[in-house]
Amino acid sequence: MLQHDQETVCRCGSGLSYEACCKPYHQGSQWPENALKLMKSRYVAYALNLPEYIIRTTHPASPQYQANVFAWKRSITKFSQSQVFQKLEVVDFIEHDSFATVVFIAHLASDHTDNTFCERSYFEKLKGHWLYKWGELIEGHEPNFSQRGQLQLLPLAYYGDPILTKQAEPIEHINEDLRILVDKMTQTMDVCHGMGLAAPQVHHSIRLFIMRQPILQEGHLDLGDLKVFINPKILPMSSETWKTAEGCLSIPALRGDVERAKSICVEYTDLEGQRKTAEFFDWEARIILHEYDHLNGVLFLEHLDAQQKKALEPSLKQLQQRLHDSLEL
Ligand SMILES: [Zn+2]
Ligand SMILES: [Zn+2]
Repeated sequence: MLQHDQETVCRCGSGLSYEACCKPYHQGSQWPENALKLMKSRYVAYALNLPEYIIRTTHPASPQYQANVFAWKRSITKFSQSQVFQKLEVVDFIEHDSFATVVFIAHLASDHTDNTFCERSYFEKLKGHWLYKWGELIEGHEPNFSQRGQLQLLPLAYYGDPILTKQAEPIEHINEDLRILVDKMTQTMDVCHGMGLAAPQVHHSIRLFIMRQPILQEGHLDLGDLKVFINPKILPMSSETWKTAEGCLSIPALRGDVERAKSICVEYTDLEGQRKTAEFFDWEARIILHEYDHLNGVLFLEHLDAQQKKALEPSLKQLQQRLHDSLEL
């Protein structure tokens, strides 16, 4: 007698049997060779209520990662059981060395309600395995392809990576390679919704960081102008300081209150090779000081008071453990 599984067509829409398609991934005997297969196998895992697979294929630094695995499993199961998984439609797929995006439409329904949504999912490779990083909903099921085929993203260095505690080297030449790096850093920062990014955070130990502060204008978010700082020097600061919560793309999901100068003067070289001096205030000053610290191997955690440091300790330990142990199969 044939197994029921072998007869069933895989829910990912490949036209293959489940047995020959997504089942080997779900059972752990194979790891999806690209982000598109991972995305499809995760859709099927939701449809079949396989929370372990969803958890195993979520990047440990994902904002969607939940420390409480039991609660996480329960919420996946609740979602799986409340929906009818009608069809998966892949709209776009872009893959680079270690970053990939998939735009898809998941046709779902529950109790005569259409729950169809369109999402752009981001995937990152860690230790040779593709993992789901995060997703953002695209309103009205109409994906915007402005970045199609051009997305150039860089892998991030996470807490615990030795490059984040190293003194970065001065830059001697501003050339095409550096401009390409700045372009990729900008795309990586924008995709991650960061306001600043330092070269060591993308595995380049050189004295370079970028910044852009989004501005809310007439109800919509303007990305703001990109500013590039090469070999920066921070000149005398005002004595006035302010304290507010900061986060860091290299330390996902953790925040802490940091006291910083309200205004600073920065001497730096721009991408055209011009040496400049400019003043910055409030949030711009804060972002610059945060990124400048990265060039000296300093993380915002070092500025926290003893009480905050102690409070964050377990979460940091957990993050590091997730980053280093999760893929030991
Ligand atoms: Zn499949
Ligand atoms: Zn940072």
